[in-house]
Amino acid sequence: MPDFESQLREFEARDELRARRELLIQARRKRHRQQIVLAVLAVLFIAVTLTLVLVTVRRGSGSGAGGTKGKDKDEDATGETLETPDWITEDLLTVNEYSRPGTPLEEVRAVVVHYVGNPGTTAQQNRNYFQNLSLTHETSASSHFVVGLEGEIIQCVPLDEWSYCSSSANAWSVAIEVCHPDETGKFNRETRDSLVKLLRWLVELYGLDRDGVIRHYDVTGKICPKYYVENPDQWEKLLDDVFEEN
Ligand SMILES: [Zn+2]
Repeated sequence: MPDFESQLREFEARDELRARRELLIQARRKRHRQQIVLAVLAVLFIAVTLTLVLVTVRRGSGSGAGGTKGKDKDEDATGETLETPDWITEDLLTVNEYSRPGTPLEEVRAVVVHYVGNPGTTAQQNRNYFQNLSLTHETSASSHFVVGLEGEIIQCVPLDEWSYCSSSANAWSVAIEVCHPDETGKFNRETRDSLVKLLRWLVELYGLDRDGVIRHYDVTGKICPKYYVENPDQWEKLLDDVFEEN
């Protein structure tokens, strides 16, 4: 039966055609699904990247001047350790633009040592001089601490505020003015002992190493503290005492 045969072949051919079409459609669907998955992945990737960028940018601006969040955290973190030992006398200056600007000290990378340059004056006199600048407007000057001739230590400015002592270093340092009996600028025994004690406390408080205790001279080249610029070996000895590397 040729007719039946040809009909059968025709059916088979149609079936094959249908099967091929089906395969083609399935392949197309598969490709379409893959494209959707790729698109979703791309969108996810872009979203994650954008989020990361935003978080980084926000954190960056948080540590800047405008960021209050980062600052609060710092204060919380150091708030407890900032408690002043009883061998330091607090006699804070009133906030004024000549000696206590009230500018927040955001970081402490160094402690800067100075000499008062006025032989025989006491810690209290130097502290009062800073306070009087708010009236005399003579100049801008102050330090966080003044170490006196009898080893007394007066704190003039809180540790979370700028002092006006070390020019460009004001923004990242704590300043100590040290009294001295004569023109040489050499510290006497009591004064030196108290300075070492104060430096040890600050070094531990801020986790500083030897490079973190510097002279005014190291910042600006000014001959301050005079004796310890002219006698660098004595400066090194002082640092040895602070870091106990004898
Ligand atoms: Zn100085």
